Amino acid sequence: MIKRYIATILLLPCCLLAMPYTLVIDAGHGGKDPGAIGNGAKEKNINLAVALAFGKLVEQNCKDVKVVYTRKTDVFVELHERANIANCAKADLFISIHTNATTAKVGPQGTETYTLGMHRAADNLAVAKRENSVITLENDYEKKYEGFDPNSSESYIIFEFMQDKNMESSVKLAGLIQKQFRNTAKRIDKGVHQAGLLVLRETSMPGVLVELGFINNRSEAAYLTSTAGVNALAKSIYNAFVAYKK
Ligand SMILES: [Zn+2]
Repeated sequence: MIKRYIATILLLPCCLLAMPYTLVIDAGHGGKDPGAIGNGAKEKNINLAVALAFGKLVEQNCKDVKVVYTRKTDVFVELHERANIANCAKADLFISIHTNATTAKVGPQGTETYTLGMHRAADNLAVAKRENSVITLENDYEKKYEGFDPNSSESYIIFEFMQDKNMESSVKLAGLIQKQFRNTAKRIDKGVHQAGLLVLRETSMPGVLVELGFINNRSEAAYLTSTAGVNALAKSIYNAFVAYKK
């Protein structure tokens, strides 16, 4: 009896070790929601291309990692459903992939990686509003997001009172991604930022939202839609993921 008890105790950590590491890759936008548009390109297509290329690298090289995609085709997925997929999969990490734009006719160049939070967030309100406004395409979004209005600055006050237990891990990954974008993909590094991003608020594991570049900058749009660009960006996120997981 005692022997069996000991065996159970000894087996337990092995079972835990055997649990696969689950990575959720979230290609932003899709279907009726094109995301940002510029220079003949659509954000949803760039996001998906990079998400699939990144996922393929993980699947080929990290046999201990289970990759879950929020979408693998050009379909509309509600924001809370993206978070649901990650939460139900009990994911260890959530990486959301997006492409930036400004309201100016010609945008700047560079990559940014966001974590959830309100530090200097007033600077990043434009990004939060743009990325969160996709919920207005959903039915009953007022109900689903408890009255959250993505376009009202007041709605973002809730983020100031929020504790994020995953902050440290998320910031670490964000820094690694930006470093890789700089060194591997040779992109302009526009830094790690915080913003009130709904998709990160609703996920319960460490997570980041990557902005690959500005679609309203002609040369950056050309890069983002090129095979070489997609591969270099995917490889950068992959390298950062491997370094983070170590
Ligand atoms: Zn986006």
